[in-house]
Amino acid sequence: MKIGTPKEVNEGENRVAMTPDSALQLQKLGHECVIETKAGAAAGFSDKDYKDAGVEVVKTAAALWKAADVVAKVRQPKDAEMKRLREGQTLISFFNPGANEKQMKAAAEKGATVVAMEMVPRISRAQKMDALSSMANIAGYRAVIEAGNNFGRFFTGQITAAGKVPPAKVLVVGAGVAGLAAIGTSTSLGAITYAFDVRPEVAEQVESMGAEFVFLDFEEEQTDGAATGGYASVSSPEFREAQLAKFRELAPEVDIVITTALIPNREAPELWTEDMVNAMKPGSVIVDLAAEKGGNCKLTVMDEKIVTDNGVTIIGYTDFPSRMATQASTLYATNIRHMMTDLTPEKDGVINHDMEDDVIRGATVAHAKEVTFPPPPPKVA
Ligand code: NAD
Repeated sequence: MKIGTPKEVNEGENRVAMTPDSALQLQKLGHECVIETKAGAAAGFSDKDYKDAGVEVVKTAAALWKAADVVAKVRQPKDAEMKRLREGQTLISFFNPGANEKQMKAAAEKGATVVAMEMVPRISRAQKMDALSSMANIAGYRAVIEAGNNFGRFFTGQITAAGKVPPAKVLVVGAGVAGLAAIGTSTSLGAITYAFDVRPEVAEQVESMGAEFVFLDFEEEQTDGAATGGYASVSSPEFREAQLAKFRELAPEVDIVITTALIPNREAPELWTEDMVNAMKPGSVIVDLAAEKGGNCKLTVMDEKIVTDNGVTIIGYTDFPSRMATQASTLYATNIRHMMTDLTPEKDGVINHDMEDDVIRGATVAHAKEVTFPPPPPKVA
């Protein structure tokens, strides 16, 4: 089969779904690879790099979509791309299936197959295909780098001939994949790092990374927010009050706040209120990784950096993985390559779209003329 990757069409999107390395691996599965010219340029991969890796380079998106049996891309397709999708073709990309009935139906009606990367089940066997986690990891890392870039002091404490420098204090709210990456980056830069999550089971992980878990003085402790499947649920008003009281205490102390708190299928909980921002020291920085879902900080403006009257910088960018396009493309292309490995069990260049396979079934949202979203829960943990 021919696996093809078009240039991303969303403005400012620098990632690419195939790298020269992933193409070599795809060829080992018996596939041929094709890419649109300059598709990898913004991520640091030239047409020559692809050609050297045995990839055919075509001049237009139209030619790419025509040549490919499987189209692998990063972002949810634009309608113009959907028009190019045809019967028997497979599309692998982020697809936002929960809010994208129109495209799902269109794909099913055409008889195309769509594998939505955000639907890869979060089971151990599928970790290598888990693009949400690989992108969240980058977002968490980059959030700290971005904070540092907007912060006027060192992260680490130093005693120098020119004076003693105190370490920065960083608070990470939400210790999922992005939060843990932020914690690891922050501690490795030498900051005193605190972390909070409604799921107390992450306390050990947080502490093993050299950060301090913030416990609440609350009767039920953090157990209140724990839910099945490792995800958070909505907190009770009492728990939320206890959490906000703790944050109010910390606001004047911390220099950098990285918020990553999300609850599946909901707007982000508002956890860093206006009075907390006002209580922070001038020069402090907030990076709100929940900006796309409404933000954890009341004052966040999506996709913008603002500075408040009291000198606090609030960053609401939603494109952190694209800001590290080489790294993000490498990891995403590897996720895609592993998906293709599952789809090519005999390594003979022939796709077997096995709907009995938990991972393939979970991620497939249109197949054999039907919308196959939402999937049944996975059988294996
Ligand atoms: P996420 O991005 O959905 O949420 C981020 C974090 O915010 C979560 O840790 C959540 O508990 C926390 N949060 C929600 N409301 C909060 C609040 N009010 N205050 C503070 N924190 C709050 O999470 P994620 O990174 O996708 O990971 C969620 C879970 O899934 C974790 O347990 C993770 O280990 C697990 N996971 C498993 C796999 C796998 O097994 N393959 C892969 C990825 C993630």
